[in-house]
Amino acid sequence: MREAGLYKKLPRCLVQCCLCRHFCRLSENQRGLCGVRQNQAGLLVSLNYGRLIARAVDPVEKKPLFHFLPGTAAYSIAAVGCNLCCANCQNWQISQGIKESKNPRPDFASGTRGVRQENNFLFPGDDVSVQEVVAEAVESGCRSIAYTYTEPTIFFEYALDCMKLARQHSLKNIWVSNGYMSKDCLNEILPWLDAINVDLKFFDEQIYWQNCGCHLAPILENLQRLAKAGVNLEVTTLLVPGQTDKLDQLGDIADFIATELSPDVPWHISKFSPEISYLLQSYQPTPAGLIDAAYEAGLKAGLSYVYTGNLLNDGRENTYCPCCRALVIRRRAYEITNYSLAGQCPKCGYQLPLKFE
Ligand code: SF4
Ligand code: SF4
Repeated sequence: MREAGLYKKLPRCLVQCCLCRHFCRLSENQRGLCGVRQNQAGLLVSLNYGRLIARAVDPVEKKPLFHFLPGTAAYSIAAVGCNLCCANCQNWQISQGIKESKNPRPDFASGTRGVRQENNFLFPGDDVSVQEVVAEAVESGCRSIAYTYTEPTIFFEYALDCMKLARQHSLKNIWVSNGYMSKDCLNEILPWLDAINVDLKFFDEQIYWQNCGCHLAPILENLQRLAKAGVNLEVTTLLVPGQTDKLDQLGDIADFIATELSPDVPWHISKFSPEISYLLQSYQPTPAGLIDAAYEAGLKAGLSYVYTGNLLNDGRENTYCPCCRALVIRRRAYEITNYSLAGQCPKCGYQLPLKFE
């Protein structure tokens, strides 16, 4: 626990958190919607600083990042909490800070927005110093540290300290994010950020609000900014039947990536598994036809790299040359089984925009 960054002190002991686009205004003892930032006597405090709920060595492909340091390992960390509360969340036990039972979600619609009502938010995990994180990443042969599993924005102070130290040890920094951070947050992390995968879950304001409790526009804005800043950017969309199954919505997502970001930004479309979701157990898994339709929508929009996720032995996890469609990288699950000449097409010689350093 320590004093948070990026907040304003207001009259009458109020504070306003400026870390994400909720901009929660909190009176004494109240916590923000993320549940992990609290007004303590007029100071905003980060409750999860240095307390890690997950540490693991993952293939960077699991983030998923397919065009950044392919075939390397990323030391992956998470703290409890998230600024969104997606009904489809597959990590809800740690993103929502609840272990066994499913407490009601924060009530976004009732005018209590900006305050988390329940106070039974748990903080399991281990106290781990920034130095330990970096040392473990180096010792385990990782090339990067990934801030992932939950939303790195809500452990921003700790992530930023790790990112700065990581650079001194030649490690790259990767965020896996919902993209709902504030402009100030993005300003702080951009100088230290090497790659990011952002979820673009829907292209529909109403569904974003109902499913996740957030707005679409700030996420699009942040994506544009990340693309302009030259960060290695990849985008993921989980295909949820009943929510992401309208072809025009999938086409809109693909068009946005192709025209507003770049046709070279990889788009990952992944299969939804209702049984591990937070609140959508009664939904159906993504049917094969929907994955095919999304894949086609990506190609039709002019995207050079569309990948399917959570499907085994689907050739669409491979990287193909956008010029001649020759195979450049073959993947099986998260493992690379074959790749050629540092991202150069073996057939026509086209250099794909992959980062190996
Ligand atoms: S949800 Fe959390 S991070 Fe976002 S503004 Fe509120 S307190 Fe800050
Ligand atoms: S943003 Fe990600 S981690 Fe947070 S609730 Fe949504 S799916 Fe879960």
